[in-house]
Amino acid sequence: MEVQREADLRAANTFGVVARCAWRVQVDDAAGLAAFLDDARWRGLPRLVLGGGSNVLFVTERFPGVVLQWRGRGIRLLDADDEHWLVEAAGGEPWHPFVQHCIARGWAGLENLSLIPGTVGAAPVQNIGAYGLELAERFDSLSAVDLETGETRRWGREALQFAYRHSVFKTLPADRYLITAVRLRLPRRSDWRLDYGGLRAALAEQAPARLDAAAIAAAVCRLRRRKLPDPARLGNAGSFFQNPLVPAARAEALRAEYPALPAFPQPDGRVKLSAAWLIERCGWRGRRRGAAGVSARHALVLVNHGGASGAELWALARDIRASVAERFGVTLVPEPRLIGAAP
Ligand SMILES: Cc1cc2nc3c(=O)[nH]c(=O)nc-3n(C[C@H](O)[C@H](O)[C@H](O)COP(=O)(O)OP(=O)(O)OC[C@H]3O[C@@H](n4cnc5c(N)ncnc54)[C@H](O)[C@@H]3O)c2cc1C
Repeated sequence: MEVQREADLRAANTFGVVARCAWRVQVDDAAGLAAFLDDARWRGLPRLVLGGGSNVLFVTERFPGVVLQWRGRGIRLLDADDEHWLVEAAGGEPWHPFVQHCIARGWAGLENLSLIPGTVGAAPVQNIGAYGLELAERFDSLSAVDLETGETRRWGREALQFAYRHSVFKTLPADRYLITAVRLRLPRRSDWRLDYGGLRAALAEQAPARLDAAAIAAAVCRLRRRKLPDPARLGNAGSFFQNPLVPAARAEALRAEYPALPAFPQPDGRVKLSAAWLIERCGWRGRRRGAAGVSARHALVLVNHGGASGAELWALARDIRASVAERFGVTLVPEPRLIGAAP
């Protein structure tokens, strides 16, 4: 267990905003976690479970409690049958290297989720998704420790209540559970997802000798590098807003007025609209207010040009949301978790 007092979290959030916390505790294993749970120093203080900090915005510059980070590592093949590989990864594994590890061993199925920052432990929390695939489709179960009781429980698919950018962890009391390991069930037969976001065209450009998970992963990485700013160079948390889900009648009315508005009917009858399109139409792409701005490459990505505070980025986000609401009557929901502000 590694403990820091008044820890600097600037490098622990991909927006790169100034943030501190009263305590930062990093644990690597069950013994470390038991020691954390027994320690009186942070008992009664607010708690924040943090992974790689790629889906959070510290609106407050000081979190007055304990930030807990799970660094448990390890990847194991647990089982294989004719249909699937069952792979388990510890929650502290970084996501993209884990995807590459699987591909290198011939365990395909996660290639569309290449290059998503963050940790394995955080991946189920918002049901990460990209290029036509969501984690839910490959999910088997996870282990999580209840930080109030110290008990570990295995959670199956049903219990997770996955939906677009959603799992049960978004509705349970925040920071009550620490996800320590995730199991994925990866298909042995090819289940390529190519019909999304220009992936097929990128593959054609690449002209790989054979179509396999490695080729698809390479194409996804190339597309992502082209579209998304690298947080190591320009602070960001990927998409700042979720794509809004609206009733079909509302989508129809909007499409009558704006025929170019991208709209994707969902199985539940609602329609998913492109938040990037709505924001771009309001003229926000590439705009800047001090050091806080909107990426010139992608209207959905808020960026820290250097020295922006979380509060400044959040103020900009609120103004974007207000202008989209005013023009289109659609309310955008932030995708990153806000620390120190209500969404
Ligand atoms: C450039 C960029 C591109 C991105 N692209 C995508 C994308 O294509 N698709 C997508 O879905 N997301 C994307 N994201 C968002 C982000 O990478 C994912 O949400 C990722 O899963 C967050 O992982 P993290 O470890 O950084 O979590 P954090 O940001 O540290 O935490 C996110 C949430 O998960 C909780 N959490 C973290 N670890 C644990 C744990 N072990 N147990 C319990 N709760 C935990 C936190 O409390 C918090 O609520 C992108 C982000 C960036 C910066």
